[in-house]
Amino acid sequence: MSEIGNENEQDNTLLNQWRQKIEIANHNNIFCHCRHCGDEWVDSSLKSACNHCGSHNIERIPCWQFPDG
Ligand SMILES: [Zn+2]
Repeated sequence: MSEIGNENEQDNTLLNQWRQKIEIANHNNIFCHCRHCGDEWVDSSLKSACNHCGSHNIERIPCWQFPDG
């Protein structure tokens, strides 16, 4: 029985989870919200128009800005 060893394994898991989040952020996942029709989607491009109405009036939020949850 080694409780300290178990804690170290948990730390490594958290570290790996952070690395995955950073990789996702590097992949440019952008949350998009159309101000015209209210459609919402996730994109990897900052240039795409709304698929629903074709508007370019898009609010874009990088996903890595969202709090953990
Ligand atoms: Zn739209």
